[in-house]
Amino acid sequence: MDRATSDESGAVIKQHLIDPEICIRCNTCEATCPVGAITHDSRNYVVDAQICNLCMACVPPCPTGSIDNWRTVLQSSPYTVTEQLGWDELPGELSLEGQTEPGINDDAGAGKSTLPAQPLAAPTEGPFSNITYNATLPPWSAAHAYTNLYGPKVREPFVEATVAGNVRVTEVGKDYDTHHIVLDFGSLPFPVLEGQSIGVIPPGTDASGRAHHARQYSVSSPRNGERPGYNNVSLTVKRVLEDHQGHPVRGVASNYLCDLAVGEKVRVTGPFGTTFLMPNHPRSTIVMICTGTGSAPMRAMTEWRRRLRASGKFAGGKLMLFFGARSKEELPYFGPLQNLPKDFIDINLAFSRTPGQPKRYVQDLLRERAADLAPLLADGDSFFYVCGLKAMEEGVVLALREIAEGAGYAWDTLGSELRRGGRLHLETY
Ligand SMILES: Cc1cc2nc3c(=O)[nH]c(=O)nc-3n(C[C@H](O)[C@H](O)[C@H](O)COP(=O)(O)OP(=O)(O)OC[C@H]3O[C@@H](n4cnc5c(N)ncnc54)[C@H](O)[C@@H]3O)c2cc1C
Ligand code: SF4
Ligand code: SF4
Repeated sequence: MDRATSDESGAVIKQHLIDPEICIRCNTCEATCPVGAITHDSRNYVVDAQICNLCMACVPPCPTGSIDNWRTVLQSSPYTVTEQLGWDELPGELSLEGQTEPGINDDAGAGKSTLPAQPLAAPTEGPFSNITYNATLPPWSAAHAYTNLYGPKVREPFVEATVAGNVRVTEVGKDYDTHHIVLDFGSLPFPVLEGQSIGVIPPGTDASGRAHHARQYSVSSPRNGERPGYNNVSLTVKRVLEDHQGHPVRGVASNYLCDLAVGEKVRVTGPFGTTFLMPNHPRSTIVMICTGTGSAPMRAMTEWRRRLRASGKFAGGKLMLFFGARSKEELPYFGPLQNLPKDFIDINLAFSRTPGQPKRYVQDLLRERAADLAPLLADGDSFFYVCGLKAMEEGVVLALREIAEGAGYAWDTLGSELRRGGRLHLETY
């Protein structure tokens, strides 16, 4: 259908669209949208124009900027969800000569990323929503994060990193398998901060013959590299062998990464992420709450603080780690974690499937440490990071709320302060 001629009134709107070439299918926008306007299939994330009210809540959290796309279309015939699901790239701008002035939606959606797009939903009762609590700003003292330096539309060809190491970091011989993979960028600039992620493009094509899209992985090394002085980053990758419902499946990118040999080349995009960043000011405290590979950014932050401490030139605040896994064998970096000095990091581990032991989750640990956590929740120099499985998010936020209220703080006020101050960061997948 020709959108430019099919509408008698000719009223146009700016339609909110997602760029399929850049989107890394991280689900952040879908989890953020308060009205359920974003949906996806196995290939694309798309915005339903019939539902989207252009509130812009999804724009700041998108790590790639792919959500910040707008096309002028006739109000009567926006691109349908079905059309968008079939796209490999965004359509060009329509020629709308002879049409009437922009319609009612135009003001709200046309401003690209310069719009003051930070609606601050007040924490309220009702179903849990990530957007209510997740900060869309980094800590005030975070270093500047570079993003989108490399990607399909930014710089061709893709960056090729070389595998410099690949070791298993969970116990061998079990049905789970997590790898620590070091990628070397050689002489190519690839600046990353702790808490950022990169995209990996697996070779080959999907079932419909299209190139695989990039998958996102948190960087688990600090800003000066896994090996200081070398231009490299590390990743913590879990081999996906069953889907979220427990059905057998062979995850494309995770299996590709876990099977890489030293010397092989990997296509990389990124870096991504501007908010899940660590504070840089002296005496700032970091509380890290994670499960499984959610430990990757926590490892990066811990290691950066460890290097700063070793330099003798930085007075850090507390480091607290709450780390959950099904069993100790399944917990990445279990051995090295035990070797960190107790006066450097306060480590709390929860295992949910240790034979003969009651199930314990990270939120149980948080409640046990309520007396230590309550003052930190109220302390503007303390920053909270949650990373891991989506299922943990609500339980952790509820535990923090219980701790705050138990100490006499009004959660609506405190939760809002944590978000506005860039002090509570949720990254789950
Ligand atoms: C911000 C962000 C950071 C991430 N960081 C990491 C990280 O540090 N380490 C890491 O290992 N992964 C991380 N992921 C997840 C990663 O991007 C991939 O989704 C994951 O590796 C699966 O990709 P795949 O290609 O192997 O599986 P696919 O081929 O894409 O999927 C196969 C099937 O498995 C399901 N599935 C996808 N992911 C998982 C999962 N994690 N567990 C169980 N089933 C799954 C899918 O729904 C699908 O049915 C991160 C994701 C995001 C959004
Ligand atoms: S602009 Fe608002 S309503 Fe539209 S998709 Fe984004 S979050 Fe949802
Ligand atoms: S990259 Fe942006 S548009 Fe794509 S799924 Fe993530 S948040 Fe949504």
